[in-house]
Amino acid sequence: MFKKISTIILLSVFVQFSFAQRNQGFKLTILDTQNKVDDKQKTKITEAFNVVYPEFARADGYRTKRDVTLEISDVLPESMTAQAGKIVVNSNWLLKNSSKFEKELRVKFAKNWVSSDTIKKKGYQLVFISKDPNLDQNVKKNLIDTYFKVYPKLVKTYNKNSTKEVLFVVDTAYKAVAEASGGRILFSAGYMKAHPTDIDVVTHETMHIVQGYGYSAGPVWLTEGIADYVRYKFGVDNIGSKWSLPNYNEKQNYTNSYRITARFFVWLEKNIKPGLISTLDAQLRAHQYNEQSWITLTDKTLPELWAAYGKNPAVDLTYSGKEIKNDNKAKL
Ligand SMILES: [Zn+2]
Repeated sequence: MFKKISTIILLSVFVQFSFAQRNQGFKLTILDTQNKVDDKQKTKITEAFNVVYPEFARADGYRTKRDVTLEISDVLPESMTAQAGKIVVNSNWLLKNSSKFEKELRVKFAKNWVSSDTIKKKGYQLVFISKDPNLDQNVKKNLIDTYFKVYPKLVKTYNKNSTKEVLFVVDTAYKAVAEASGGRILFSAGYMKAHPTDIDVVTHETMHIVQGYGYSAGPVWLTEGIADYVRYKFGVDNIGSKWSLPNYNEKQNYTNSYRITARFFVWLEKNIKPGLISTLDAQLRAHQYNEQSWITLTDKTLPELWAAYGKNPAVDLTYSGKEIKNDNKAKL
């Protein structure tokens, strides 16, 4: 049967091509080999698809298939099935329930998720989608709590125009640690399982939303250094996750990014200019940052500042409310 269906699909692609429409980079091709639905219904189906699929794709991650086929079937035992790239609709159900198509499509796509929660607090919203049936409920709670605890502070401190509606997706197919794009943060289910205490991934990633620098505003090391500086400053449990800023050594450079750069920034704030990082962050957002910014703000070039740091890198570090003396003499 499958062989027969796929042959029909191949043949009908050409016939149905006129119903293929592009919307926000998504393309729907309706396969209706037995002409069960008329053009008006196909237009309605396409409209509903254009509403629902981008929402689904946003939660599904950037790997979502952008070319989607919708097959009208008279053998499907249920109303419809919906996955990335492939929707199958029961023709009998559709003819009787065309007004319910959009709602049903949304329900079927959400079936790919284990859970979807919408939480609102004091003007901030978080939609939390889990695709991991084994997600530890404590980890879920901690991720949500950290968002509501930290994100409003970051918005208030750095960028009041940041979105107040954020989407978290815990995805089993995503293999890195986490990433932010638009108002969405993708978490690796595998990483969170292996590192359940690393809850301040939320702090680092939500800072990327607040940063919102857009393209080519500044170097990546600076963006990531600021995000880890903010994790250091606003993190809720850096001690619990054993996250710390590594001591200085001569092999380092400020371009090493992340925690190495973040420690340099802590030192700059304490020894050169309080508020420097906040100013640089604002400049990056306004696309006004360049290498001259360091000279204007500190009277020194960036390499001069790094050299000064290297000469006397000691700095007291405070993690999540507890003080650890760091005299930079500890062996790495
Ligand atoms: Zn980052």
